[in-house]
Amino acid sequence: MEQARILIVEDEEKIARVLELELIYENYYVQKASDGLEGFAMYQAEPWDLIILDIMLPGISGIELLRRIRSQNTKTAVLLVTAKDSVEDKVSGLDLGANDYITKPFQIEELLARVRSSLRFQTEAALKTEAEAEEEQWLSAGDVRLNESAREVYAGGEPVELTRREFDLLYYLLKNKKQVLSRDQILEQVWGFDYIGETNVVDVYIRYLRNKIDKPFGTAHIQTVRGIGYVVKDFS
Ligand code: CA
Repeated sequence: MEQARILIVEDEEKIARVLELELIYENYYVQKASDGLEGFAMYQAEPWDLIILDIMLPGISGIELLRRIRSQNTKTAVLLVTAKDSVEDKVSGLDLGANDYITKPFQIEELLARVRSSLRFQTEAALKTEAEAEEEQWLSAGDVRLNESAREVYAGGEPVELTRREFDLLYYLLKNKKQVLSRDQILEQVWGFDYIGETNVVDVYIRYLRNKIDKPFGTAHIQTVRGIGYVVKDFS
């Protein structure tokens, strides 16, 4: 795993120094800021996996800094460091999206445990978002899958080579899965309003597509709706 990046925002120099040494010893990449404004500048300058954020800070408070961070970023984990008697800060900090908090004075082992759990949470959340983003790139119907940005098509689990027009046609059909599309609609959307040529071009390309995504696999994702046009369905 990559070295996790931790920013410490803490004005008490002694505490900041001890934290820094302990975290470096645990093989984290660590930087520190000694007030809220410096913390915000450093937050913006580099990517961070975790920010250890003291609430009582000169410049802008930890709560205000947290508000600014969360208004642009929900991925970086934030571990709040609170004074013993500031229950309100703790509550508003968690409301603002801090992942966890620790109360001063704390044992270093407790802090390291919180750091590990915050980073684990952050990694899992990031992985989930990546998987979701990857999934969103795909359109599918039954065994047919199409990735728009990579311009890849799979049918029956195998990659299928399509021409540009075939790809655009399949994209339009999948995007409007389960809707019956007329030949005119398809012509307008895939070939454009100003298309001049054979009116049976849609039928011709549907045949090309079927020969590539259905016929070899014994499926019938693209179905003819007599007198109207075509529809793509999940199951053939
Ligand atoms: Ca402080």
